[in-house]
Amino acid sequence: MRDQPTNLPFHTIAQRLIDWHAEHQRSLPWRSMPAGQRDSYAVWVSEIMAQQTRIGVVVDYFNRWMECFPRLVVLAAASQQDVLKLWEGLGYYSRARNLHRAAQLVVAEHDGVLPATRSALLKLPGIGQYTAGAILSLAYGQAEPIVDGNVKRTFARLWDMDRSIDETETLKELWELAGEMVRAAPDGKAGEANEGLMELGALVCLPQKPRCLLCPLADLCLACQNGTQSERPVRRPRKRTPHYQVAAGVIWEGKPLQSRVLIAQRPQNGMLGGLWEFPGGKAEPEDSDLPATLRREIQEEMGMEIAVGEKITTVQHAYTHFSISLHAFHAHIVEGTPQAIGCDDWTWTTLAELANYPFPITDQKIITALQDGV
Ligand code: SF4
Repeated sequence: MRDQPTNLPFHTIAQRLIDWHAEHQRSLPWRSMPAGQRDSYAVWVSEIMAQQTRIGVVVDYFNRWMECFPRLVVLAAASQQDVLKLWEGLGYYSRARNLHRAAQLVVAEHDGVLPATRSALLKLPGIGQYTAGAILSLAYGQAEPIVDGNVKRTFARLWDMDRSIDETETLKELWELAGEMVRAAPDGKAGEANEGLMELGALVCLPQKPRCLLCPLADLCLACQNGTQSERPVRRPRKRTPHYQVAAGVIWEGKPLQSRVLIAQRPQNGMLGGLWEFPGGKAEPEDSDLPATLRREIQEEMGMEIAVGEKITTVQHAYTHFSISLHAFHAHIVEGTPQAIGCDDWTWTTLAELANYPFPITDQKIITALQDGV
């Protein structure tokens, strides 16, 4: 049984995190000002980019983004295609679409400045409790908690929690603990305490091998005392993710590799919404083979009949909840003209001009194969 959470001294935890953070925090482009005094737009962009993505990858994307959209109003005025193009390769594209839509709402309803209350921030697309806490504490210096994966893991160990952190009750408790901790920080230091906690999780309280000898909280940590670090946090067992076979058509207007090629824009509200792709879809049990899948999908989504030629390449990719084998084929139209039935738009474009459109990583690999002359 773990101790009651309130038995640990929150002010000591907060102060040690602040001191440790001052010495050990990583230098990152969005951290030029102290936590609590940063530009809210830069905090917002960096936090959204860092969700589901390694910090090392985020840095280049963040720098490029800030060059193109240095202020929130510039982002709001940009085209969705330019926004998605800049996000290309970062994945989870709803993050980019939501940033863009939220920026437009902030311009329309908040004079172009991100609001400074949790309730107002939570009304913006793509901003949840975590991002709201980050903006409020790291930009506006408010004593508002943040709970991300690093905080969950570190706190689950600090209090040696034996309940799954995926349970609603545990999550609620983690938010309460994070709130206690940040409110116990000295005035004006809430942002540093929050960032210190997240940074400690990222650099010291590692998922596999926590570096307890280097941890400023080691003498307080109940998991460390009980030797249960490797059993914390407790997680609900993961479900097995399904795997799908998907066929895509590189449909040429004339001669393969020498004529224009057909691309389609994915529906806004679905997965990878707004991105462009080589049209196609998932194999169904009634399809005799992958070319049959492709012919059926193109008929359903674009209202035309195609002939399927040689295979170009197969791309393997894992998303969060499923994985795919994407098989790309050369193809040409036999009857009909393209219609936007199951897509938002379509266009003919040259191989060189494909670089102007945002594509998912899978289709970028098909483009690379085409550029290699397959
Ligand atoms: S002592 Fe070890 S397990 Fe406990 S918080 Fe520090 S790094 Fe994590």
